[in-house]
Amino acid sequence: MLHSDEAAALREQGHRLTPQRLIVLEIVKRSGQHLTAEDIHAAILPQHPYVNIATVYRTLQWLQEVGLVAPIAIGGGPLHYEYVHGKTHHHLVCQDCGYEQEIGDDLLDVLKTQLQERYAFTAQLNHLAIPGLCAACRQAASNHAPQAQEHQP
Ligand SMILES: [Zn+2]
Ligand SMILES: [Zn+2]
Repeated sequence: MLHSDEAAALREQGHRLTPQRLIVLEIVKRSGQHLTAEDIHAAILPQHPYVNIATVYRTLQWLQEVGLVAPIAIGGGPLHYEYVHGKTHHHLVCQDCGYEQEIGDDLLDVLKTQLQERYAFTAQLNHLAIPGLCAACRQAASNHAPQAQEHQP
């Protein structure tokens, strides 16, 4: 169940912790993964068939506002949601095999500072998915690359 300190902090801030809010938070938190609203809804249904998808979306919106859940866009698909423990992080996502690596915020601090200095732009870089190729896929791709053909005169 939701850590009692967390629940207490939210109540202190004047939030109402409805059963739906607790259920959605619990599922996102327990999975430790990125889930779509549909994934969350599917996980809720067996025990709570009265919770509809609109409620899940509304609850996810609220969880974002209170900073417990962060959305992330992976590829072109639907938004995924993840429990965040008050710590900004990002993901490297391999576009070939789906490999994911979580990275800290420190690497992007450099980028944020540069954007601020050069463009006076305050970047909001929260929970990014950085697409690319993992080491294994890059290796495989270069092994399978067609040999360069010699030009015939
Ligand atoms: Zn994440
Ligand atoms: Zn890969």
